[in-house]
Amino acid sequence: MGSKVPPIFDKRICYFCGLEKSNKAKKTCRSVIEIHHIIEVNEGGSNEEGNKVPCCSNHHSTIHEGLIKLDKWYMTTAGMKFHWWDETGTEWWGPRKL
Ligand SMILES: [Zn+2]
Repeated sequence: MGSKVPPIFDKRICYFCGLEKSNKAKKTCRSVIEIHHIIEVNEGGSNEEGNKVPCCSNHHSTIHEGLIKLDKWYMTTAGMKFHWWDETGTEWWGPRKL
């Protein structure tokens, strides 16, 4: 009890395209990584990591448009993996690899 749980995702990288949050030193790139709540907080979702997925603003819109289908986080032998389907219906376990 009270033991620190390691983070289950890198909050600086979009899970759906691999876009990385811009480094402040590089002023030319302004990518911003947002956090999507799998169950919206106003619908009773928690603010825990298990209810969140990091995404770029592009993919955040795509999720809300229903083009990307989200399931949830699962503990696998390779660690915590998020289960989802992309715009073409392809199933993914983990971040999209480009
Ligand atoms: Zn993205």
